[in-house]
Amino acid sequence: MGLYNVTEALVKEAFHAAYEEPGRLQCACARCTEDILALALNHLRPHYVSTEAGFAYVKAQYFNPQLQSDILRELAVAVQIVEAHPRHPAVGE
Ligand SMILES: [Zn+2]
Repeated sequence: MGLYNVTEALVKEAFHAAYEEPGRLQCACARCTEDILALALNHLRPHYVSTEAGFAYVKAQYFNPQLQSDILRELAVAVQIVEAHPRHPAVGE
């Protein structure tokens, strides 16, 4: 049993698929990664389920192009914000 936010799982998957390649992010530290995920998730509607079966079912429903493009758009905005204002000194300073 557990409480799952399907949106969070999808955002994390999309983030890793789109940005895990070295060089895609100015900084890929844990702090910046979590800031990016938090910003994106705050702009997307959460969708909670209470069982793993519900999680798998809802997640399958969510793999539609519109939602994926919403997620990628919010991630791109969040990446720009965090790269412009990292919450630690810039790399190399
Ligand atoms: Zn960083």
